[in-house]
Amino acid sequence: MTRSFADRHIGPDLDELARILDVVGVGSLDELATAALPASILDSSGLEVLPAAATEHEVLAELAELAHSNTVATSMIGLGYYDTLTPPVLVRSLLENPAWYTAYTPYQPEISQGRLEALLNFQTMVSDLTGMEVANSSMLDEATAAAEAMTLLRRAGRSKSARLLIDTDLFPQTKTVLYTRAEPLGIEIVEAELASGLLDGDFFGVLVQAPGASGRVVDWAPLIEAAHERGALVAVGADLLALTLITPPGEQGADACFGTTQRFGVPMGFGGPHAGYLSVHSKHARQLPGRLVGVSVDADGSVAYRLALQTREQHIRREKATSNICTAQVLLAILAAMYASYHGPDGLREIARRVHGHARAIATGLDGAVVHDNFFDTVLAHVPGGAEAVVAKAKSSGINLRLVDADHVGIACDEATTATHVAAVLESFGTALSSEVSAPATAAASVETRASEYLTHPAFTSYHTETAMLRYLRRLSDKDIALDRSMIPLGSCTMKLNATAEMEAITWPGFARVHPYAPVEDVPGLLRVIHDLEGWLSAITGYDSVSLQPNAGSQGEYAGLLAIRRYHLDRGDTHRDTCLIPSSAHGTNAASASMAGLRVEVVKCRDNGDVDLDDLRAKIADHADRLACIMITYPSTHGVYEHEVAELCALVHDAGGQVYVDGANLNALVGLARPGRFGGDVSHLNLHKTFCIPHGGGGPGVGPVAVRSHLAPYLPGDPLETGSHAVSAAMYGSASILPITWAYIRMMGADGLRKATLTAIASANYIARRLDAHFPVLYTGEHGMVAHECILDLREITKQTGVTVDDVAKRLADYGFHAPTMSFPVAGTLMVEPTESENLAELDDFIRAMISIRDEISQVAAGVWPVEDNPLRGAPHTAACLVGEWDHPYSREVAVFPHGLTPARGKVWPAVRRIDGAYGDRNLVCSCPPLEAYTD
Ligand SMILES: *Cc1c(COP(=O)(O)O)cnc(C)c1O
Repeated sequence: MTRSFADRHIGPDLDELARILDVVGVGSLDELATAALPASILDSSGLEVLPAAATEHEVLAELAELAHSNTVATSMIGLGYYDTLTPPVLVRSLLENPAWYTAYTPYQPEISQGRLEALLNFQTMVSDLTGMEVANSSMLDEATAAAEAMTLLRRAGRSKSARLLIDTDLFPQTKTVLYTRAEPLGIEIVEAELASGLLDGDFFGVLVQAPGASGRVVDWAPLIEAAHERGALVAVGADLLALTLITPPGEQGADACFGTTQRFGVPMGFGGPHAGYLSVHSKHARQLPGRLVGVSVDADGSVAYRLALQTREQHIRREKATSNICTAQVLLAILAAMYASYHGPDGLREIARRVHGHARAIATGLDGAVVHDNFFDTVLAHVPGGAEAVVAKAKSSGINLRLVDADHVGIACDEATTATHVAAVLESFGTALSSEVSAPATAAASVETRASEYLTHPAFTSYHTETAMLRYLRRLSDKDIALDRSMIPLGSCTMKLNATAEMEAITWPGFARVHPYAPVEDVPGLLRVIHDLEGWLSAITGYDSVSLQPNAGSQGEYAGLLAIRRYHLDRGDTHRDTCLIPSSAHGTNAASASMAGLRVEVVKCRDNGDVDLDDLRAKIADHADRLACIMITYPSTHGVYEHEVAELCALVHDAGGQVYVDGANLNALVGLARPGRFGGDVSHLNLHKTFCIPHGGGGPGVGPVAVRSHLAPYLPGDPLETGSHAVSAAMYGSASILPITWAYIRMMGADGLRKATLTAIASANYIARRLDAHFPVLYTGEHGMVAHECILDLREITKQTGVTVDDVAKRLADYGFHAPTMSFPVAGTLMVEPTESENLAELDDFIRAMISIRDEISQVAAGVWPVEDNPLRGAPHTAACLVGEWDHPYSREVAVFPHGLTPARGKVWPAVRRIDGAYGDRNLVCSCPPLEAYTD
């Protein structure tokens, strides 16, 4: 029998599936569908439009053709996107390496030390280059980083003003996203030419850029000082490569810096994904949005890394969080950091000088036609009435320049620019080459104002040979559990297979080396992928229109809620500003609602986990005139298909509200039910959950927003068009990873997708049935069924024995497993989601480990081991536990080779013992510690 792709993607084979269904107590997958889902929503229509399943090799051939149809021009458009030469060792050992790309966000830091160290390098790189003290890791792109800088300045400053001053020379897409984000928050943006100084009036903040969109490099120090005198804070958008030569904003007194790290080895990818950055002075560290890696210590006193200051984040603070950002851009942040490690400070400086030298050669060749004398990589040429002709001429020699207006052309140089390109550009202007031009100066350059050192830490000076880098990457990834070592049963996160054939295309130049603002005729293949996906995702969800622009689930939520808000406003319903959210919701929901200018009202859940419809009726009555929408997750975050969902939607619709269905749990619906048909007006999907984009250790993600037709006019528009309500810097967001989802759907076909969903449900129910006697399953729906995940309730066990969910999660690492989701959505529980990709042997290994852990808990309960000193509380155990002193009541053997450990699995050695997170928050360190820190 030749196996189809679906047979490779879905873990259990026919025999295994039969055994699973037997335990679940149903005869077939179809019977399972009827038993688990409410009959009122079952709907397998819509998928006829999907093409029949193709094989891996057929799909790769189709993708190759699509990639080939794109024109990979020499890109000199600039505007924050530059061609870059990714070192091959980083392509193969990092970007294309499942040990890196299949990891999850490092919520279990003891088995994530490799990527945490890499992220600490990223933070160190950004803070060094920008001259700031603390950087996060990471932002979604430059434009959203600017928007986060805007709100950070407002939170951190003392000014009562609601006005933000921005320089006209910010990137146009940055401005568009700033306008989108400012409006619902009541922030008024004032745009002005700031090179000549501040405007009159009060402002809470000022945003400027270095270099600007025009390439101009301005010394912002006087403006920063003037702004501070007036009580305003300043954020500077800064190009990291330029900062190797020019004075960093941190040394000029800026309060924050923002930007992208794309040109540090991350392909343009028609818009993304890339890591944006945000850095601040340490006094604003607690105001930073998103993930921040910090240094702490483990139970043995060794240096250990973990996510710091989690209490700022939306899963704790909800609508009061600093931001809704959850999935970030970890894989790309690590790629940028490794690029800096590989080149080192001298290498980066040399690249910057070469880039600048080429820009100077162009400026020299253009002679009097250059608008700004002080530039780094981008030259603005003044050619009255002739800009279009110049751009067309360059295009004919394979070069894309930026048409600024009828009289101006922008030319951006980058790492890939050569003397041949310089000559071709000058030829497009019809300027004869002088001999000086063909040999650009690489020595001293006029912009070199930076005196301070950077990237002096060994992380940036030790890995300049390929052998050293190869081993560094391997050493780090060996510390982590990714999908290449074990299942990652994280409820709500859907950690399924990211198949190699899905990943293959993303580094092909036809997809990777394309500028997001390249002319449309350059990108027919990309547009075809995008168009297909929009259609397929509409069919799967039952909605009418889809936008692929949001670059994470949180951004999809934001875009969807903005659509609802604008719909009400356009109809004159200006008072509809209230968003109902069940208490079980993911924290991003509330955070996104408040960013969209909505008030959050919490709806209670019943004891069985369902939304309490009586409370919903009461809340609707209380807020009748102000009701904008309800935001539910389906199936719920409790892992259950609520049977009253149609009634719930009707109640809200009858009151004039809209229904937002968070689609993070779509892995329980694909091919079985469609939110756009059972009551939703809008949903976002997480392509990095249901649709196989790997999680990258904490990003990238893609969070398309899907709407019914009445909301279609309010989907995000073109970021280059002012007032288009764009939510990210590129029209199609993280376009270069869309081929992953395209390939998945193309290879699975309608039947494969439906079977995947049902297998995921079957496996979750199998685990629920097998573990219920050991760890009670908290919520089930009708017929005692769960959806695609189940919540194991440890609260009673904790009460009786003192053993906590933390202890169980950490002990799982000793057994070689990644822990399930901890304490979400219910504190003191574990949420398990196996997905369809795990075969029966892996499910059984996990179950065996959990049962063995339950036995260990019983020994604690029986007094064999004290609650404060037992294999659970001591977990995880490192190889170092095997030597030196040992004064615990359990043996070293039990510590590292517990009884339930399946011998064939191969031992995972956690890199550190249990980490003390609170210690690190009290002593906040967010950049690479000096080497001496490791010795004592
Ligand atoms: C994952 C998740 C989100 C957030 O998605 P990101 O891509 O991380 O921003 C929102 N809601 C639910 C229920 C989720 O599981």
